[in-house]
Amino acid sequence: MSNKIWLSSPHMGGNELKYINEAFDENWVAPLGPNVNGFEDDLEAFLGKNVKVAALSAGTAALHLALIECDVHHGDEVICQSMTFSASANPIAYCGAIPVFVDSEPDTWNMCPDALKEAIEDRIQKGKKPKAIIVVHLYGMPAKMDEITALAVEYQIPIIEDAAEALGSTYKGQACGTFGRFGVLSFNGNKIITTSGGGALVCHTQEDKDKVVFLSTQARDNAPHYQHSQIGFNYRMSNIVAGIGRGQMEVLNDRVSARRAMHDFYVDIFKNINGVTVFSEPESDFYSNHWLSAVIIDPEVSGKNREDLRLALLKDNIESRPLWKPMHLQPVFENAPYYGGNISEKLFDNGLCLPSGSNLSDEDRNRIEKIIRSFFGI
Ligand SMILES: *Cc1c(COP(=O)(O)O)cnc(C)c1O
Repeated sequence: MSNKIWLSSPHMGGNELKYINEAFDENWVAPLGPNVNGFEDDLEAFLGKNVKVAALSAGTAALHLALIECDVHHGDEVICQSMTFSASANPIAYCGAIPVFVDSEPDTWNMCPDALKEAIEDRIQKGKKPKAIIVVHLYGMPAKMDEITALAVEYQIPIIEDAAEALGSTYKGQACGTFGRFGVLSFNGNKIITTSGGGALVCHTQEDKDKVVFLSTQARDNAPHYQHSQIGFNYRMSNIVAGIGRGQMEVLNDRVSARRAMHDFYVDIFKNINGVTVFSEPESDFYSNHWLSAVIIDPEVSGKNREDLRLALLKDNIESRPLWKPMHLQPVFENAPYYGGNISEKLFDNGLCLPSGSNLSDEDRNRIEKIIRSFFGI
């Protein structure tokens, strides 16, 4: 059996162990220390816009704290893009709040501004103004932030930007993760850079960052004994893990280039195959890190379907995966309100994510190309 080709696997840069060794040498084996501060500084410099970043244990934890900071409580409603990974929506349930799901539009596969407007107006009419809007930059593709931000401003609802998949992506030159009231980053093992597990919350004021750090370290009041006037969380990033992050930040731009090259590789393979579209930026305002490359296979035009391609790749030990199954179709959220049509549903039916790692070799690419070409008979 040939080696497994993964959809997206960790890709170390080389200096990660140097930062970890420094932490051991100085005994900073704790959820604070020079690597945590250094990693936050690196992210702030990379993102620009004078953001303040709080390094946390996971992107999911960052979303949870963002909702708390947006004053989301039991029984409140929060609008969320339906087509996403469950981690975008689960923290709404952690707060005892109700997700209101919104469909995607076909250009970016992200939140449809028209469906968002309909959702906001209908929820307000039904007596409840949503407390926040969670918009996702799926597979690194920036959402239509101008249109979405205009609605958020009009209705005075804060945006929580789930940029877990979009570190290195920009919209009109501005980094994804810096548009919303809060931005969420993830450094899970499959993301464009990884700390093995970790996340961060992008804030716009030192005050917001201080509050997030306070909540993430058990909400300890300023007193010599342990004194608490709020419920806290154990969500801070460890200094060991942050050392991996510092090493990864040194190679982030290379990783973006390599992922974008994988996208170009698929564009080239599929250019002569009818009925297959590679997920690409709609125009030059959108710059995707192409965390994952994906295709839509139209069975009526191509005579093929995405599941058969998945199985053909799997037979050669190559991992691929259907697009995220929309949240409004998930059993766990079946009672949640939903606005929009069937765009995300159709994307799910016909879409497939292909191996996209920055560490794939020419030999890996040859194997992938051979299977695809023989599957489509070209
Ligand atoms: C990975 C991911 C998350 C969660 O991040 P973790 O660090 O794994 O908790 C949230 N949203 C999206 C869209 C993701 O892809």
